[in-house]
Amino acid sequence: MLFFSMRRKALTALLLAVLCVITLTITVNSGRAQWAEFESPNQRDLHLVKSVAQLQDIEPTVTTHCALQPESSKSPSTIARSKQRNLLNSTAPITLERFRQLQPASSAKDENSGEKISAQSVQSARSYVPREEIALIHPTNYGDRFLLDIQGNPTDLTPIVVLHETVGSANGTINFFRTPHPRDEDQASYHILIRQNGTIVYLVPPDKRAFGAGNSVFVGTNGPEAVKTHPSFPASVNNFAYHISLETPPDGYHNSYTHSGYTTSQYQSLAWLVSKTGVPDNRITTHKAVDRSGQRMDPRSFSFSKFFKLLQTQTKTTEIAIRCTPPPDAPQSKAPVKQAKATSINIQGR
Ligand SMILES: [Zn+2]
Repeated sequence: MLFFSMRRKALTALLLAVLCVITLTITVNSGRAQWAEFESPNQRDLHLVKSVAQLQDIEPTVTTHCALQPESSKSPSTIARSKQRNLLNSTAPITLERFRQLQPASSAKDENSGEKISAQSVQSARSYVPREEIALIHPTNYGDRFLLDIQGNPTDLTPIVVLHETVGSANGTINFFRTPHPRDEDQASYHILIRQNGTIVYLVPPDKRAFGAGNSVFVGTNGPEAVKTHPSFPASVNNFAYHISLETPPDGYHNSYTHSGYTTSQYQSLAWLVSKTGVPDNRITTHKAVDRSGQRMDPRSFSFSKFFKLLQTQTKTTEIAIRCTPPPDAPQSKAPVKQAKATSINIQGR
């Protein structure tokens, strides 16, 4: 009797264990299924729909408004109020149009000479259309663009494009950005990530401030340009930058100076994307070039000549608007804001 009782108990325990394993397997696989769909190459429209549905959990809508001026002290209550206001102002749904205004090709202004490239390759480059995905990241990892810096100086600098590389995988990077980071020092983001297969992933709308290059300055024809937007952090280019990152090849997941470089699809997608920003060639730069910490060297093994050759073949438009709309409570007397002079920019920081 004791033997049978023990056997029944053992069988019950075994049954429970099997049930647990089945439940766990279903849970894990349903989680994977979302990513598998995210990566599926041939389901573009489905993917966009799914992505939008997924991001409803994060932040259903995002305002296009600028913020007026950074808080000079970072008390948690003011930051909470700012986030709350951002959510209250939210009205526009997240669609592809939120990241670039679709324009018919016939209305686009052609500014290319195309002299150095054969007509055939121009035609081929112009017919290139990358796959696009939306993966809006967690709102702790990006912020509003500011109309004034922390001391009240106007910040209306001409936008720049800053190129990066992920060093790790694209999915690992996106996961990091989709993770809430309540501590300011942990927050980071790009506007765009370009996968090795050339897929463009929209992470942060262009009117928002991605946290791509802390402690940085752009030195162009107007002199040094940077904006201080945080009481504890150095000035940076983030307030007027559009950050684009290329997925690093697996042989570059280390800190060496070089790797095997980027795919032709990545260069083509990059040229396609940058041609839609309206940013002039002399304001396209790299994280390495704007970095002031001396620690950044990305994007490694990047060929500017290959990129600019492809960029020349593209029809230039302004589908991607790197600017925000002034908030309704912005003082009217201050508009239009005066052009910021290089000498008035307060480059502080460590
Ligand atoms: Zn970088």
